[in-house]
Amino acid sequence: METIIDKTEALVASTYARQPVVFERGRGAMLWDTEGRRYIDFLAGIAVCALGHSHPALQQTLAQQAGRLVHVCNLYYTVPQVELAAWLVEHSFADRVFFCNSGAEANEAAIKLARKVFQDRGQTNRFRIVAMEQSFHGRTMGSLSATGQDKIKQGFYPVLEGFDFVPFDDIEALRAAVDDSVCAVMLEPIQGEGGIICPADDYLRQVRALCDERGALLILDEIQTGMGRTGRLFAHEHSGITPDIMTLAKALGNGLPIGAMLAREAAAQAFGAGAHGTTFGGTPLITAGALAVVQTLEKENLVAQAAETGRYFRDQLEALTQRHDIITAVRGQGLMLGLKLTCEGAPIVDQCLEHGFVINCVQGDVLRFVPPLIIGRHDIDALIQCLDEIL
Ligand code: PLP
Repeated sequence: METIIDKTEALVASTYARQPVVFERGRGAMLWDTEGRRYIDFLAGIAVCALGHSHPALQQTLAQQAGRLVHVCNLYYTVPQVELAAWLVEHSFADRVFFCNSGAEANEAAIKLARKVFQDRGQTNRFRIVAMEQSFHGRTMGSLSATGQDKIKQGFYPVLEGFDFVPFDDIEALRAAVDDSVCAVMLEPIQGEGGIICPADDYLRQVRALCDERGALLILDEIQTGMGRTGRLFAHEHSGITPDIMTLAKALGNGLPIGAMLAREAAAQAFGAGAHGTTFGGTPLITAGALAVVQTLEKENLVAQAAETGRYFRDQLEALTQRHDIITAVRGQGLMLGLKLTCEGAPIVDQCLEHGFVINCVQGDVLRFVPPLIIGRHDIDALIQCLDEIL
């Protein structure tokens, strides 16, 4: 009989290199496969399931909302959409929110909004966006064009015109690149797919100051860093600055397909009726679910917990570094952590899976740990012991 894996490989587009496991259910930070084996989840669907799996608040809200109203489209108003927008505005720098379905789409919205702000002012030549080498902003054509990794763009050239790249964490390179043809600077506060790269402490402040000086908008992609992952609700809060535009997805829905672009009014007003849109953006089902997610994040104090657990996790990873020369650095902040290795990480990821731990690897040689924010110290201890033995 054909297995699930064989069938998937035969029938589903082969765009993912998958691990040989079929997950069936999850609870908290635990996952179970179809053979009944239990795993501790240190990936959380790539920084998505911040509350863990099968959280009762999300289950109940979705069941209730599914029985009331799933979809009507954006030609009408609904209560959950505005309630989620109100929560996001109240907890951020932003005045308005555009809802969509994924991170890539949130970045598309940000790119379009940045261009339109200047085109509305008659500055039609001011459309360039300076983004970062090694960045990742998504796979759609616009977000791909903003992505600073050639290997991800291979086979899809030509990408959109108007994107320039400078090294991340190099303010002088950025200063040289931002002239009056640039509408926005776009970056992740910590590069996730690029290898968990944290910039110097004052980098974001300098980027903000440069954008102000040159009149360019600052777009922060907080799709991976946002919603408490780094120990603050949004990673830019560590720097004491705010962007003009911010994109969110991933943990905002804890697994529900939702993206959001948040903006200050001065920028947001460029999106008038008909300027942008999507059928599924902000449906009652998904926004009711996401509202339950953010309220739970708040109620269970998970952002502070991420900061505290993240410090503990980091200390354990540092201790591991002392014992194994194969590790050259511990990277990241809060519960977005990485171990840079002198060798390929894939065999270690495979062995962790065999031992019941879900982790992954970015850029070939960086082990990435982005667990649910509820992860316990005993789970961390168990992973560290496993890594100690494998390394
Ligand atoms: N931006 C960042 C920083 C990401 O990490 C990701 C996904 O990994 C994206 C954008 C794209 O999000 P999505 O896969 O939801 O389109």
